[in-house]
Amino acid sequence: MKEIILVKNGELVLKGLNRSTFEDVLIKNMKRHLTGIGHFIFTKSQSTIMVEPESEDIDLDDATDALKKVFGIAALSRAAVCEKDMNDIIQTAKSYLAEQLLPVKTFKVEAKRSDKKFPLISPEICRELGGELLKTFHHLKVDVHNPNIVVTVEIRDKFAFVRGGNIKGSGGMPTGTSGRAAVLISGGIDSPVAAYMMAKRGIELVAVHFASPPYTSELALMKVEELVKKVAAYSGAITTYIVPFTEIQEAIRDFCPEDYSTLIMRRIMMKISEIIAENQNCLALITGESVGQVASQTIYALGCTDNAVNMPVFRPCIGMDKDEIVTVSRKIDTFETSVQPYEDCCTVFTPKHPKTRPKPQEVEAAQNLIPRLAEMIDTAVQNSKKEIIR
Ligand code: ATP
Ligand code: MG
Repeated sequence: MKEIILVKNGELVLKGLNRSTFEDVLIKNMKRHLTGIGHFIFTKSQSTIMVEPESEDIDLDDATDALKKVFGIAALSRAAVCEKDMNDIIQTAKSYLAEQLLPVKTFKVEAKRSDKKFPLISPEICRELGGELLKTFHHLKVDVHNPNIVVTVEIRDKFAFVRGGNIKGSGGMPTGTSGRAAVLISGGIDSPVAAYMMAKRGIELVAVHFASPPYTSELALMKVEELVKKVAAYSGAITTYIVPFTEIQEAIRDFCPEDYSTLIMRRIMMKISEIIAENQNCLALITGESVGQVASQTIYALGCTDNAVNMPVFRPCIGMDKDEIVTVSRKIDTFETSVQPYEDCCTVFTPKHPKTRPKPQEVEAAQNLIPRLAEMIDTAVQNSKKEIIR
């Protein structure tokens, strides 16, 4: 029996004339996620994209798992392909859907007849197949309002499809349809979640990480690369910059009042990220900050951080509790990596009493105490290491 995957795109439906372009990006992304699993033929029709394996040895379980991570897909379903003949449709439904029908109590049949020449009209298809399924699966009852499973028959041009329940997709918009942005990624829980959330809205990511060897270790760096890789499983390859930050952090420690040091560090990170972002044609910065989580994330502090750059800063976790962020990080499988205990550059020179209500002019004055800062920022950008993580 030949099996295919039907993909329902979500919000794409809203995009009117742009829909076709959006679907093309979605198909490109699906192909990328299916690399290594096999070759597929993609056919667009209405709000469905048909994904058909080119050869029989392709594992559709693997393909389904891969497609579940593609943004822009609301739901997927596996379907059996059969002849446009009622007998074949009935036989296929009985064998193909047995596994799904045995554990449930109620069902209904829906029919979609895009080939109007098919001899039975939709209600007749439903009645006939429904009757046959009741005869074979004695435990089943029909419930047209709230069935456990909907059995769908589609009569298309050349073939008919029979399918059972839907599988939830990742939702969102296809990555690459909303421009590019640079995410400041630490080894923590929040920034990978922020990256995932913006990629889900169609944004293509560039990642920037600040490392301060020897205060931060090679293991801390590997942890960040692992996190980026986990986000890339959804978003596709991420161009990642590792910025050497030791010299600047030592200068902050040596020249600035301690209670402003975290904030100044954060502002300089934003400035450097903005330069990298501009070079990479990004239009915004992304961070994992959330109001009130730590001293550098009060609204006073966030205001001072924003002042350091001209680009818009997206903070998708801003109104989320830690619990809620953790739930997402578990879902996208970054949590276990994030909680590995390697030091981040933020924790290296943490002040004892950070200012929670900093004033912009004071922060700026404190930052200006660092000699040759512009030069050091230039050097850090020049010496940053670029890698593509996929
Ligand atoms: P996270 O879990 O993302 O580390 P956090 O709650 O620990 O967040 P902070 O350490 O205060 O928060 O960092 C706030 C934000 O600053 C992070 O979400 C991230 O976007 C950015 N950031 C912090 N450290 C780094 C770093 N070493 N490199 C790049 N970005 C960083
Ligand atoms: Mg952190």
